[in-house]
Amino acid sequence: MKKILIIEDEITIAELQRDYLEVNGFSVDIQQQGDIGLKKALEESYDLIILDLMLPMMDGFEICRQIRKVKDIPILMISAKKEDVDKIRGLGLGADDYITKPFSPSELVARVKAHLSRYDRLSTNKNNGEKEEIKIRGLSIDKTSRRVFVNEREITLTTKEFDLLTLLASNPNRVYTKDELFDKVWGMESLGDIATVTVHIRRVREKIELDPSNPKYIHTIWGVGYRFEL
Ligand code: CA
Repeated sequence: MKKILIIEDEITIAELQRDYLEVNGFSVDIQQQGDIGLKKALEESYDLIILDLMLPMMDGFEICRQIRKVKDIPILMISAKKEDVDKIRGLGLGADDYITKPFSPSELVARVKAHLSRYDRLSTNKNNGEKEEIKIRGLSIDKTSRRVFVNEREITLTTKEFDLLTLLASNPNRVYTKDELFDKVWGMESLGDIATVTVHIRRVREKIELDPSNPKYIHTIWGVGYRFEL
């Protein structure tokens, strides 16, 4: 049975969501306080999180950011204001979906099911060891064997250089801040600092770019971060 965590301070809304989800065969926990909700989300193994934005002790933005550092399970964000949707998108928090209040419980259930099956599909592909290959112009990355080729010629990358390049190339055209890249690639190891990102970007460019000072793949977005050009 799939386990869902609802982090929502308005108990009537949370219970309504829970009732509909339980009828549809899900097991559901409710947490009303932001910080405790985050703790539960990190400690227990949920298949999906339904996350309200405005919460006591810690808001949904921060909770989403913290969960994303360690888990890639679907996160559905619930907001009371339409303008929050732009904010969720703009922050690049990694939320999978957002719904504005008021919404029908059956719509929520439909979205939960859609995200769970998409997530299952993705993780099955990973587990089957299916060849996951990224090919962008002359660059090809084989995620399974962790090999990288530029115009058919194999190049050697360190673990972190490979992770950094693969993250950027897997999400082309998305702008990553240095902080995000540091969090995602170096994560909890916290050796070094943001400058590490700059150094690694430079090394990756030296290896994959024809002219590293005029990069074709990894572009610098001044004052923001980096983007992989499709
Ligand atoms: Ca709320």
